[in-house]
Formats: sequence, C-alpha cells, structure tokens
Amino acid sequence: MVKVLVVGAGTMGRGIATVCAISGNEVYLNDLSVEILKNSMESIKWSLSSLEKKGKLPFSTEKVMERIKIYESLENVPKDVEIIIEAVVEDISVKRELFKRLEEMFDAIMATNTSSIPIDDISTGLKNRKNIVGMHFFNPPTLIKLVEIIKGKDTSKETFEKAIKFAKSLGMETILVERDIPGFVVNRINLKIFDSVLSIWEKGASINDIDSVAKYRLLLPMGFFELFDFIGIDVLYNVFNEIRKKGFLIKDHKILLEMIKDGKIGMKSGIGFYKYDKKYQKADIKKGNLYSIDPLDILSPGINEASWIISQGIATLEDVEKGQKIGMGYGDGILKLADGYGLDNVFKKLIEIGIEPDSLLKLKVNEGKIGMKSGEGFYKWDYKKLELPGIIYEKRGDHAFITFNRPEKLNSLYLNSWRSLKNAMEMAERDNVISIFFTGNGRAFCTGDDIRSMYSLKNMEESKQFFSEVRESIEKLIKSKQVLVGLVNGYAYGGGAEMLFIFDIVISSEKARFAFSESKIGAIPPIAITLGIDLVGRKLFNHIILGDEIDPIEALNIGFVDLVLDEVQMDRAYYEYVRKIESIGYNTINAIKETMNMSKENLFMEKSLEKLVKISMDKNFKEGMKKFLEK
Ligand code: NAD
Repeated sequence: MVKVLVVGAGTMGRGIATVCAISGNEVYLNDLSVEILKNSMESIKWSLSSLEKKGKLPFSTEKVMERIKIYESLENVPKDVEIIIEAVVEDISVKRELFKRLEEMFDAIMATNTSSIPIDDISTGLKNRKNIVGMHFFNPPTLIKLVEIIKGKDTSKETFEKAIKFAKSLGMETILVERDIPGFVVNRINLKIFDSVLSIWEKGASINDIDSVAKYRLLLPMGFFELFDFIGIDVLYNVFNEIRKKGFLIKDHKILLEMIKDGKIGMKSGIGFYKYDKKYQKADIKKGNLYSIDPLDILSPGINEASWIISQGIATLEDVEKGQKIGMGYGDGILKLADGYGLDNVFKKLIEIGIEPDSLLKLKVNEGKIGMKSGEGFYKWDYKKLELPGIIYEKRGDHAFITFNRPEKLNSLYLNSWRSLKNAMEMAERDNVISIFFTGNGRAFCTGDDIRSMYSLKNMEESKQFFSEVRESIEKLIKSKQVLVGLVNGYAYGGGAEMLFIFDIVISSEKARFAFSESKIGAIPPIAITLGIDLVGRKLFNHIILGDEIDPIEALNIGFVDLVLDEVQMDRAYYEYVRKIESIGYNTINAIKETMNMSKENLFMEKSLEKLVKISMDKNFKEGMKKFLEK
C-alpha cells in the first residue's frame, strides 16, 4: 500500500485516483473546491460500479471508495505521502506554482501527468528537480492500461525507477521515455497520423471513407474522426497547438478552432465530426469507398516518427509498439504494420509527400531489409525462399507466397512448373501456413499450359502421363486446407484463369485480362467447364465457347473476381488480407476449408481431363497448337 496524493480531480485526476485505489493504495484527492471534489467522487463511484457490474473489480465499489479521501486544502493532507501525481489544468504557470508549494510540503516523488509541457519546464526553479518525473496516463486510465514514464534532464535514476515500479503496481504497462521531448512517444506518433488524416480530409476525401479505411483496412477499433470526437475537439486542438508551438512539425488545422467556436467539440457536446444522441455512442461509419485512400498516406508520417524515436534512443521498439497497441488499438503495432506494407513502400510514400525519411528507416531500406516480404525489417520474420523450376516459393511469416516465374514465357506452365506447383503446395502444408497467395512475375499472372510443351507430346501415352501430373497439382490446390488468394497482376489465360475457380479469394489488378482460351486451339478448359460453371453458372458459357478476352470488371460481374484495384492498392490489400486471415486463426480456417472442399469433390474433373487427353491427339488440337505457335 502506497500513500498517493492526486492533485486535480478533473477528467484525468479522478481516473488516476480510481486506478490507484483499485490497486489497494491510500489516495488523497485534492482540487480547488469541495464541490468539484464531490462531483469527482460521484463520477468515481459511477465508474467503479460499472466496472463491478462487468466483474472487472476485485473489491466492492464501497471498499475502493473508502480508500479515497478528499482534501480541499493541501495543508490538511497527511505529510507522509510517498508519491504525488499532478493532474491540474494544462497551464505552465499553474503547474509551476503548484510544484513549488508541493516540494515545500512533502518529501515525495512528484509526477506530472502533463500531455504537452516539458517536464524540465515544470521543474525550472525547483529545489528537488531530481524528484520530478513525468507519468503520462491515457484517458480513461481505468481502461487504457498504459503510462509513459518520462525522464527529465534532472530526474534521478531512483525517481525514474520508483515511478516505473509504482505504475506497474497499478497493473499498467509502461513506456520508458528516456528524453523529455514534446509529445513524448505516443502522442508524437499519433499527432503525425492525425495531422495526415486531417490533411487528407482537407484535400477532399470524405470523413466516412477515411474512417472506413481505419476500421476495415487498418482494423482499428475506431475511425480517426470518431476518435477525435471521443477525445474532444477542444482537447485535440490544445494538444496540437501546444506541441506545434514547441517546434514539432504539424499543420495548423484551422477547422478545429472553427468547430470549437461553433460548439462542435465532439461526443460530449452531441456533435463534432459526427452527431451523437447519447454520451457514449459509436459513430455511424458506413463501409465506404475503401480503396480510394492509400493507408500509407495516413500512416507513413507516424511510422517515420516511430523510427526516429527508436533511432534517437528515446524509447525501444517494444515500448513504441506497446503504445500503439494498447493506447491506440493497432493490434500488431505500427512498425509491424510498416513491415507488412513494406518499408520500401513507406520510404517511397514519405518522399512523395515531402518528408525526409528517418536514418534508421533509410538504413533498413538501403540494406534491403524491407519487412515481411524480405524476411527482415523492424522485425525478423520467419522467412524462407526457394526457387523451383517455373515457380518461386516463399514462406513469409504465417503465409506462403507463390510466384509463377517464367516471365519470358508469360508464366506459362510446362511439366516442371506443374511439378513445382505440387511441391510448393506440399511445402506450404508442411510449413503450417494459414494462407497461400499467388501472383506472377512480370506482365502475366499465368497463361496456363505452355503450348510448345503440349505440342511436343508424341502419343496418347505421353499425353496421359502429362495430364495425370497436371491433375495431381490441381488436386493439391483443390484439397488445400489453406486459404488460397490470387493476386492477378496481368494476363490470366487458359489454365491460369481456370485456377481462379479453385482460389478462395481473387483480387485483380485493373491491368489484368482473363480468357478461357482453350477452344481457340481446339482444346477444352477442364476446370472452367466443371468447377467454374458450378460456381458462377451459365454466364460462363459464351466465354468458354468463344475463348474471348474478359476484362476485370466483367470478371467481377461474372463472379470469379472479388475485388479490382490499381496495382498499388492491390499490393496494400495483399498485406491487409494476410492480417485478416491470420486474425481468424489456423484451426477455424482449416475447418472451413475442409468443409468447403467437400463440395468440390463431386466434380466431373476426372471425366473432363479424360476428354482432354482424348482430344489432345486430334488433328484439330494439333493444328490449333501449331497455328498458335506459328503466330
Ligand atoms: P480537467 O480540466 O478535466 O481537470 C483539471 C482539474 O484541475 C480541474 O478539476 C481543476 O479544478 C483542477 N485544478 C486547477 N488548478 C488546480 C490547483 N492549483 N490545485 C488543484 N486543482 C486544480 O483537465 P484534465 O483533462 O483532467 O487534464 C489534466 C492534466 O492531464 C493536464 O495536464 C492534461 O494535459 C493531462 N492529460 C489529459 C488527458 C485527457 O485526455 N484529458 C490525457 C492525458 C493527460
């Protein structure tokens, strides 16, 4: 049990007093008037009983309330206080004055909860500067279990360590901030991101679309504008302003001040960027035009700031990530996201928006450590790469990435590529990956069987042998327990287009072109006429018969493509799908896939391949192939 004095019983003070009392400490709560204090006690009681109702309180509300005593005057507070946490208004002169009085009255560690005033500015002129430390809680402290512990220039090691120990005793995660910089760690990164969010909006993107990206692509618990309303536009404006005045590079978003003047200060006033009928209400965010905004436009300045904080030795990577995970709800941390999207892409984006990339980020990119797809970025990923004939197999963390790799032959498949595909599928299974992504190297995704190698089949026996190997590979795809995702970057013809019927999710680049082109050379598309028709129906008939080219929008309408994106967004969507699939979990995915695959077993595939073997020696087929090769 520690005797704690909390000065200031407003939004933060009452929350801090609550968490201190829940952990069994004796709490003295001080503010300017008994009225304010009584109000605070009411609100503390309300928040404790709602925690109690949810079963989140180890003691009864009354028991915890007994541990908090209120004091209108500091003079009456018991002198043996061990730690003081200041949470009065964000005004340097009020804080300085207060600390002067406090150090005269108590011999204790003195922590300030300031958001934007440097610890060293508050301790200027004090006798015991070594006792002053920053303890930056987040709103509300009962829910966000995170405290930044900030070392001032004169903070002693002992004070710093005691503050860490005390925060931990409250069940809080700590971020150790080794240097007293404006905004500390979490807000510096947040404000860079908030700054880009506001700028993107000012340039014309809609609030709903930006918040859609936050919720449905970045998988954040709230939209950005929803969060602004929750924080309060007045609070946000003040933090923006204070930190900008200290030289931190963010824009002055005039709109915030205008909103304050109009009384639109967020959830607490019933209106901000959104409208609210109740005090705690979620904003009505519709799934908007999700891919009209690049998530890296939002995140890159924050990622760069995080990189700078680490490269300057201000906080560790683990602590930086902790702040974003616990404080903001970035499930994987912001640098993990950066690795996933690719540090090369973050770097490019920073240059594009005119921000100098941090030295650590620069170094990583120069060394080819660009994140998930290279095996190392800010993190080390479980990575391996194997070049097989016609195919590259990579294990990238929990998923596999297969690239059709015969760019000079538009990634057409000869016998060895089919064998490689089978091997790669077996490898993915052994590697226990949860999903497998497929793409092509160069202009094509995959243009199906290499006509030249099929043309060289001399007799029925050879043809049978060839197609039985093809079948084995296709079966591996059909029976796969992993989620199969096609990233169709270019031409998908013949077998390359047919494969898409086996995949679970197909994302197409705007540049992709599809064709079930077999009829043009006198052959038949065995997967399209079985599984394909089963899946999308008669809309496919004319394309199977005519073998004509299909563009991505037609493919979307027919139903064998799920999403059409430009190349950049397709690359971003790749990592977003990796995250979404991983969040489902391995066992669930396996169960879903096994059940889904049952419906694919009753196929006429066997028959249709037999048919293909039969006609493969037909004059028509041979002539078709010959003509194709002569073209
Ligand atoms: P608030 O306005 O809700 O509360 C401040 C309280 O301090 C008021 O009750 C006021 O009466 C009292 N006070 C003012 N002068 C005092 C004095 N001399 N002695 C005793 N009490 C005094 O403000 P808040 O949002 O709780 O912020 C408090 C501090 O916490 C600020 O430094 C702020 O930057 C920081 N902070 C705020 C948040 C947030 O989200 N609100 C988050 C983290 C940190």
